[in-house]
Amino acid sequence: NQKVLLARRPRGMPVHEDFRWVEEEISQPAFGEVLVKTLYLSVDPYMRGRMSDRKSYVPPYQLDEVVQGGVVGKVIQSRSKEFQEGDFVLGNYGWQTYAVTSEDELTRIDPDLAPISTALGVLGMPGLTAYFGLLEIGQPKPGETVVISGAAGAVGMTAGQIAKIKGCRVVGIAGSDQKTAYLVNELGFDGAINYKSSKSLRNDLEQVCPNGVDIYYDNVGGEISDQVLPLLNHQARIPLCGQISLYNLEKDIGPRIQPRLLITSAMMKGFIVSDYVDKFDQGLKQLAEWVKTGWLKYRENVIEGFEHTVDAFLGLFKGENIGKQLVRVSDR
Ligand code: NDP
Repeated sequence: NQKVLLARRPRGMPVHEDFRWVEEEISQPAFGEVLVKTLYLSVDPYMRGRMSDRKSYVPPYQLDEVVQGGVVGKVIQSRSKEFQEGDFVLGNYGWQTYAVTSEDELTRIDPDLAPISTALGVLGMPGLTAYFGLLEIGQPKPGETVVISGAAGAVGMTAGQIAKIKGCRVVGIAGSDQKTAYLVNELGFDGAINYKSSKSLRNDLEQVCPNGVDIYYDNVGGEISDQVLPLLNHQARIPLCGQISLYNLEKDIGPRIQPRLLITSAMMKGFIVSDYVDKFDQGLKQLAEWVKTGWLKYRENVIEGFEHTVDAFLGLFKGENIGKQLVRVSDR
């Protein structure tokens, strides 16, 4: 069994030396446990937060322990009444090629519903984040203008398409021409801006949002948000989903003053997807239906091979992914 451990707490942008690779014997499941083989593992921006020793909504990772996170695997040995050999499961045991885990920590995946990898993306945590953040906090209404930062990522592209389904005009902000072209040509966004090549993000936003911004679905924070907030309309809503542009900063930059929030009576609300755990079933059902009918498209950026797990994670902060970033550890 190969594992990636957190060797030390990253300072700023994580580097390979922050992680350690180890190999151990595969252990045997006890009663009520199963042995799972990893097929796909997830790398996610929130993991950066857990690598620091800071108080948050989940405890920090411990040093010399496996980096925890979402995994899709196959049961290869079962001592549980709940799972049989061959079952596909969703777990949270993180960056390792096998794991013995309790039956209580696994959820069965239906391989007939959609490809099993989607349990880590559009039909999993990122999809639910987009769904509840946009619908519960954003409260989109037909004809409204929705701006999405981090728009070509797992959460962003899902949130944007849901806003389209709800009849909104949708504008994405992302970090390459390939991404902006994808959003407009493949996903039907009404506009998209490459914030890296834009000479003035503010001017470009004004061009594509002539009626201002009613919902700003924020995945990135920082300077991009500084350029969006001045365009807010009266009673705009801002689901504060992520702040990836700040995750690798060593110092807290403190809150920025946003007079526009005040004068528009806008609402900015932070949330963690688990706030909506009671409604997950309903959310997943709707997302699965939209995927099935083709209203909601998804894209995965799959890196082959467990040995590239850390690269895949680091790539999130360099914008290497379009859609959900996954590592394929094994295909069966
Ligand atoms: P993504 O698939 O969006 O991957 C990260 C993307 O962020 C990159 O591809 C890159 O795209 C962009 N990015 C990286 N660094 C910066 C930067 N400095 N400034 C602007 N953009 C940057 O990840 P997810 O969809 O999984 O997550 C998106 C956001 O949602 C994250 O902030 C995450 O923490 C948050 N999140 C929140 C949850 C919640 O419960 N509240 C749950 C899940 C995710 P580009 O090329 O455009 O720069």
